[in-house]
Amino acid sequence: MTLRPADENTGIVFVRSDLQNAIVRARPSGVSDTTLSTTLSENGVQVATVEHLLSALWGLGIDNLIVELNSEEVPIMDGSAAPFVDMIRSVGMKSQKAPRAFVRIKREIRVTQGEALALLKPFPGFKASYTFVADHPVYDRYPKEAEFDFARVSYVDEVSRARSFGLIRDLNQARAINRCLGSSLENAVGIDDVKVINEEGLRYDDEFVKHKVLDAIGDLYLLGQPMLGEFHGYMSGHTLNNKLAQALLRCEDAWDVVSFENDAEMPGEPVLIPSTV
Ligand SMILES: [Zn+2]
Repeated sequence: MTLRPADENTGIVFVRSDLQNAIVRARPSGVSDTTLSTTLSENGVQVATVEHLLSALWGLGIDNLIVELNSEEVPIMDGSAAPFVDMIRSVGMKSQKAPRAFVRIKREIRVTQGEALALLKPFPGFKASYTFVADHPVYDRYPKEAEFDFARVSYVDEVSRARSFGLIRDLNQARAINRCLGSSLENAVGIDDVKVINEEGLRYDDEFVKHKVLDAIGDLYLLGQPMLGEFHGYMSGHTLNNKLAQALLRCEDAWDVVSFENDAEMPGEPVLIPSTV
């Protein structure tokens, strides 16, 4: 994967260099698969596992970028967004002239699937919360709820390092349907019947619920602009995150696009500068 600067108003665009530079745009309607990760398709060309990279791009405030790939999948790295954050910060970012545009939520939108729920509601900034439900002795040992107001909490410090996770027995099932073939303890937290099996343990006490927030941020960033609003997920995942983004786009009275002439007018500007460098 190669990340290249892009002009103002380009958005996030994936380019498959192995397929005559075919273009796949980041947009909610382009999502073709949400089994375990989020896959985009355009004109028969796919780009898989886009959510952790998109989450990092939201966290760093990157609106315009060319993501060149020489195969179908965004590298999984360590299963979190942190390697993308670190690499981008090591080369630096550039402010562009166009004012940042935000998707502002004007009324509550919710989608459900069985007991699972995902919703967006108005908020002067960006807040994300998640409730994780799992009846399992290992999950029971760690926090299952988290809420982040990103005017107060640094995404880079508190969320970006949370890795993907899963029960080892589900992993075997995923292999059977030809998914997660590259999954290992290098890029995910593995859980057996009684414990986290990674030698290094967890990066945060609430790493599981934080990863769900990381995923939701990435999936919602397919909207193309950062959000002024509040997200809440209850047992939700990539499928509901995408349904929520698509439902929002269909309900035109539920949102508008706003920008601010100067940063001082911006309500609850997300904390983009991490406290540790
Ligand atoms: Zn994830």
